[in-house]
Amino acid sequence: MDHLKKYITEINDYPKKGIVFKDLNPIYKEPKIWKELMFPLQNLISTKKPDYIAGIESRGFISASALAFKLEIGLITIRKPNKLPGEVIGTNYKLEYGEDRLEIQQNIMEKDSKIMLFDDLLATGGTAGAAGNLIKKAGGNLIGYAFLVELTELKGRENLDSNLFVETLIKY
Ligand code: 5GP
Repeated sequence: MDHLKKYITEINDYPKKGIVFKDLNPIYKEPKIWKELMFPLQNLISTKKPDYIAGIESRGFISASALAFKLEIGLITIRKPNKLPGEVIGTNYKLEYGEDRLEIQQNIMEKDSKIMLFDDLLATGGTAGAAGNLIKKAGGNLIGYAFLVELTELKGRENLDSNLFVETLIKY
């Protein structure tokens, strides 16, 4: 998958000074390239037979919704604070650049539903780790994590449940 790195642009000092941000938008703009990434991910995820894909706001929503549609399973949204209507469960967590909070609707899934968590990119793992804990708190059965990109030197996997499936397609 390394040949697809040319479709990932590096932006210096975004969103803060000192951060080199990987912009995946050029991938989504090219249907053939996006498809090349999504097909293997779709196949890998389908072998785990999840009931739902949970996408993390907001870049995670892009491919999570496409995967859910292709796999013909439901999509659950994990969102930033005050975006979801009704009763929510939340968790605070540390980010590569700051602190944030994620929320999920309290009764969005049936208890013990099998959930595959998806985000565009794994950096420190703070976001995905928090989202995974949130799914468990909401009564879901977290079965794994999938990402398009992993920044391996940030050791994000150490913040994930090590007993679970973790798939990342493009590694830096
Ligand atoms: P982490 O919590 O693993 O440190 O950061 C991952 C989260 O921040 C993901 O939700 C991801 O969308 C966003 N993120 C952090 N760094 C980058 C980056 O370089 N590129 C992109 N596309 N997203 C990033």
